[in-house]
Amino acid sequence: MGIVKNLLISKGNDISYYDNEVYRNIKINTITEMINDISENSKKDFDINYDKVAYITIDDGPSKYTDEILDILDRNNVKATFFMINRNMNAYKDQVIRIQQEGHGVGFHSVSHDVKTLYKTPKSTFEEFSTCRDTFNEITGETSNLIRIPYGSKPYTPEESYKILVENGFLVWDWNLDTEDWKSTTDNIISNVLLNGRNKDDLVLLMHEKKQTVEALEHIIMVLKERGYQILPITEDKEAMNFWNQNL
Ligand SMILES: [Zn+2]
Repeated sequence: MGIVKNLLISKGNDISYYDNEVYRNIKINTITEMINDISENSKKDFDINYDKVAYITIDDGPSKYTDEILDILDRNNVKATFFMINRNMNAYKDQVIRIQQEGHGVGFHSVSHDVKTLYKTPKSTFEEFSTCRDTFNEITGETSNLIRIPYGSKPYTPEESYKILVENGFLVWDWNLDTEDWKSTTDNIISNVLLNGRNKDDLVLLMHEKKQTVEALEHIIMVLKERGYQILPITEDKEAMNFWNQNL
């Protein structure tokens, strides 16, 4: 009902939703047209509910897909957050600069991306993320303390490794909506978002730099906007949402 009411107002009609006579005369095809209109309107941040926030997070890049991802985000006026692997930052420096300059959230995703190597000692865990931060600083002159631990901060991360990260100011972010994009088709990614993203005010979407993800991205943005989410980048002033804090 809210949808119909908003559409009538947004179209600038004199029709009142409360006018039963008019409401009875709305035919199914008109409603279909209105729903199509919502997709158009969602591109203009239509009907945003500021209590609902979605963070689009993209791991494992930068990659050959980063420019296309950035173009999609830009034309939809949306900022995401990129958790980047050290060697990929070195391989795609122009994309690292673009991510930073275009106002996206920046975070780090380790050097090894390997559980055994990363957790050899707490110090090695800390050093992997420090190295990423140094690389980012060399490329852009900027810094960040946001991190996403490969495979998440539970169950693999030993307590000592988690502690050393937090005590040194790193902000550990996990997710509460796994799009399973790395092993899914484009259609399945979209339906994972549709099904698993219901009934949550804060969404942290886990995505990766994959071809099928690029193809699903614009549709996912439209779904989130239609559902009233404000799509924001992760910034350091927000309390980190992770499996240890249990605030996802
Ligand atoms: Zn990863």
